[in-house]
Amino acid sequence: MHELSVAAAIIERAADCAREHGAAAVTVVRVRVGELSGVVPDALAFSFDVAREGTPLASARLEVEQVAARAHCAACAADFAVGVPPFLWCPRCDRPSAELRSGRELEIVAVELPAAEAGVPEEDRARRVGTGPPHAGESAPAARPASSGSAASA
Ligand SMILES: [Zn+2]
Repeated sequence: MHELSVAAAIIERAADCAREHGAAAVTVVRVRVGELSGVVPDALAFSFDVAREGTPLASARLEVEQVAARAHCAACAADFAVGVPPFLWCPRCDRPSAELRSGRELEIVAVELPAAEAGVPEEDRARRVGTGPPHAGESAPAARPASSGSAASA
């Protein structure tokens, strides 16, 4: 099944992206699939569900944007749908057109990571996990009510 290897490649790329950004998971993967790419969206969705088990994409959503196959006629500047399999013949001026504009796409257009992890800059995350100064933080709020209390009584 062709779609299974495509799904595996999508998962691998998206997992790499998550790793690069220090995220443990991927929430959404958006892909563009052309009509002529040879990939059937339903089969891709099924393969994705099978292949993502045990990966950072285990609970990710796959969004497939299907791209229609269209050609452009240089003679009359018309754009027209060529269908599957493609019929490269301009319907307006009734002559052959070999310029396929879209339909072969097979690409990842977006990888979304969990907001909590993706939104935090690298150094902030290190500070949160690392050994911060907890005592300095505790003493500061304790000192404030005392000073404000003395200011109110004075
Ligand atoms: Zn034409």
